[in-house]
Amino acid sequence: MPRAAAPALVFVNGTVILPDRLVPGAVVECAGGRIRRVGRGRIPKGAVVVDARGGYVAPGFVDLHVHGGDGADFMDGTAEAVRTACRAHARHGTTTIFPTTTTGAEAQIAAMIAACGGVRREGGVAAGARIAGVHLYGPYFAPDKVGCHPASGRRDPEAAEYQRHFATGLVRIATCAAELPGAEAFYRAARRRGCLVTCGHSNATWAEMARAYRAGMRHVDHFWCAMSSVASLRQRYGTPMQASMEQFVLAEPGMSTEVIADGCHLSPELLTFAWRQLGARRLCLVTDANRALDQPPGRYRFGSAEDGEWIESDGRVGFVPGAGGALASSVVGLDTMVRTMRAATGAPLAEVVRMASLTPAERAGVARETGSLAVGKRADVLVLDRRIRVRRVFIGGAEFTG
Ligand SMILES: [Zn+2]
Ligand SMILES: [Zn+2]
Repeated sequence: MPRAAAPALVFVNGTVILPDRLVPGAVVECAGGRIRRVGRGRIPKGAVVVDARGGYVAPGFVDLHVHGGDGADFMDGTAEAVRTACRAHARHGTTTIFPTTTTGAEAQIAAMIAACGGVRREGGVAAGARIAGVHLYGPYFAPDKVGCHPASGRRDPEAAEYQRHFATGLVRIATCAAELPGAEAFYRAARRRGCLVTCGHSNATWAEMARAYRAGMRHVDHFWCAMSSVASLRQRYGTPMQASMEQFVLAEPGMSTEVIADGCHLSPELLTFAWRQLGARRLCLVTDANRALDQPPGRYRFGSAEDGEWIESDGRVGFVPGAGGALASSVVGLDTMVRTMRAATGAPLAEVVRMASLTPAERAGVARETGSLAVGKRADVLVLDRRIRVRRVFIGGAEFTG
């Protein structure tokens, strides 16, 4: 007996957010987990209708850089921790996620990747944001830019180790500080695997960035955080003062970057500067959230529950206790980043949402599948109210209710 086709899913009574404009009153029609139509027209008979109640219909968010949430860090390395964090971020509108490693022993990183692979294979909307791949972020940080990550787990890139991680097929984003010995070989290997290749936790000069660029590096992690500046390079090289990662990203059109727009890491002026200089096609919003997201203020481990560094959350941001105000990643979701970016910059809403959806999807190579409300893409759809608060979340056409 042929199976009856599932009824269409239709979003009505909202302003549809496209990558370059808002379309009031448009309809988004989905079927079989995909977007089938965006625009005007009749609602098919028997369709399941989702009423946006005068709010917005937006693409699901894509987070390139995220460590955990709701008490779990991906580096805990268990399926339960991975599901907990992915569910937490889905509540904030993230439908595609790249769980991000910290510094740590090779076995800890391997366990994290394996746990993410297991949850990804199971699939299902109940597991929350869909894992599009892992961001191999730690351990290849510069010794002087480790930040809040466990310093004992930092090391220079070693081919035997990272090739084992790449061989899982799960690593889609790969970070290394450009000045480390072996960085260029790492970038080339990551590029061959089709990864978005990024430089972060680095004190690199322009010359080191230019070499990295030739080896395939195209992105810098959390702009202005744990990266070089003219001032930091002056300490290293004296005068004449050197151009830094900041100038390289701004000057090279092939480069993208990301900001932690939680209102605590960067001032409204810096967020505005980043948007004006880079534009919505080269700037991503990321959470860089740790396990304290949606948890009460208190002390938390950044990284693995076994041996991660202790950080503190005041409910607004993570910080390193007693370190003179050094921050330790965010404790809020991408919905907060979108609201903060919008308020800080006054950028058109379509551009702000693009920075949290299509731009990161393009940079990570998943834009054919997701990242915008376009025919043929997965039905990753959010209903937002007029104040850009998440009301309903659909992943592959199924509603996430956890
Ligand atoms: Zn970082
Ligand atoms: Zn991070």
